[in-house]
Amino acid sequence: MSEYIYVLGMDGRPQMPTRRKRHIDRLLSTGKAKVVEYVPFTVQLLYENHPVLQPVILAEDPGRTNIGVAAVSQKGELLFSAVVETRNKEITKFMEKRRKARQRLAKRCHTMIKAGQVMRKLPMFGEEKYITCRYIRNTESRFYNRRRKDGWLTPSAEQLVRTHINLVHRIQGFLPVTDVALEVNRFAFMQLEDPYITGVDFQNGPLKGYDDRKAAVYDQQDGQCLLCNKKPIEHYHHIVPVAKRGSDTLANIAGLCCRCHEKVHKDAGAARRLQNKKQGLTKKYGALSVLNQAIPFICKRLEEEFGEHVHYCSGRDTSRLRQSFGFHKTKDEPLHEVDAWCIGVLSLREIPEKCPDFTKVYQIKQFRRQNRRRINHQTERRYYLDGKLVAVNRKKRMGQTGRKDNQTKDSLADWFTKMVHLYREKEAEHLRSRLTVKKSQHSYNDLKREMPGAEFIYENQRYILSGQLTNGKYYRAVGSTQNFPAAKCRIRRHNRGLVFVS
Ligand SMILES: [Zn+2]
Ligand SMILES: [Zn+2]
Repeated sequence: MSEYIYVLGMDGRPQMPTRRKRHIDRLLSTGKAKVVEYVPFTVQLLYENHPVLQPVILAEDPGRTNIGVAAVSQKGELLFSAVVETRNKEITKFMEKRRKARQRLAKRCHTMIKAGQVMRKLPMFGEEKYITCRYIRNTESRFYNRRRKDGWLTPSAEQLVRTHINLVHRIQGFLPVTDVALEVNRFAFMQLEDPYITGVDFQNGPLKGYDDRKAAVYDQQDGQCLLCNKKPIEHYHHIVPVAKRGSDTLANIAGLCCRCHEKVHKDAGAARRLQNKKQGLTKKYGALSVLNQAIPFICKRLEEEFGEHVHYCSGRDTSRLRQSFGFHKTKDEPLHEVDAWCIGVLSLREIPEKCPDFTKVYQIKQFRRQNRRRINHQTERRYYLDGKLVAVNRKKRMGQTGRKDNQTKDSLADWFTKMVHLYREKEAEHLRSRLTVKKSQHSYNDLKREMPGAEFIYENQRYILSGQLTNGKYYRAVGSTQNFPAAKCRIRRHNRGLVFVS
């Protein structure tokens, strides 16, 4: 079977994909269609037609570093299949970098204190607890705008939500998507203090038939008492009593047998043991993991766009279906594309007997879209003596090296010590008083410099730019060790964030 060719109408709207390669070739050769994209191969018709659209279900197997995607027709045919590699883990690194910069600032301003000295009162397990906070002195927030907005997510979770939504939009560019199917971890919703606050009725969505928190606890503990691990669950116990402001969330409920329940209420040691066990369990289910944090928000945004056409299934359903088709997950073969197809098929009325052979799985890679050099530019100060640049920044920025255009890597402090060495201190001070300071000017992206993720053609082959060498004289490509002379390369498309690598 040949690959699908994706078709856009004259108005640019996607139509049903086709496998009629010869027909498309004829259209292309007679000028009735043009190629708009090579990977995935997409053509645009240049004449008016009346397309017949059928439902197309786009299924996502959500993940942090890898997302599986599949587009499924009503009959269960695989119209499109891909695996996406996100750059979500990079976000954590950048946040770490920012924290370190703040630490340096705190050190310079003498607001730094020794580790483990600050205790902050934070809500944990429905109770306020003291937690040791390190590194930076905790001052009272001074402005109202220090408060985080409702629905605030950590940067990495926010990025993950956007990636999932952008992915759907990207695929909508060449496929007429009508429905979305998603695998959700129901525990993710139980972690929300109150699923209703997000404004979407999750009870009719991912939590359908699952609205009892006790059922979730039962599932988590496999029906066994949490303390003794032998007897079946008979009672449900609030670890922090409701009377003491304990919450009614999954994290605060434990299933116990009759005897253990009695013990927990009498014996403080047993209560502590139970709390530890519950903490371990909560951790195991990734209560605070980035993906679980993001999933309710992904669902919310998809429901805003697709309304009732969002379908959910659980990981258990997916793995059962996958195994029934004879696929087994291993570490080397995570089978995200198979999972995605299963998720899509689960939303159909009938499950097809045969499964596709997954001959073509597109690889999508996410690239950063913002040039970090611009951030460094904005905070830079330049010092000139008689019109000649002598120093950059009062103190050296991390990683400050002389570039071709400014010839100096000295900071003002470095330059001053040099001057003191050369002349006397008084003379140096006099020189310093004559310096003129220039704020760095607002700079725009150098459009000639291509960002990684761009698509370029070299000797009729398509490559994805991964980096540049010797001031942009050579290009490097994803999945290749060759250096491509930039003069012989033609850029076809700039970086679009989510890029089809192959
Ligand atoms: Zn027990
Ligand atoms: Zn109890």
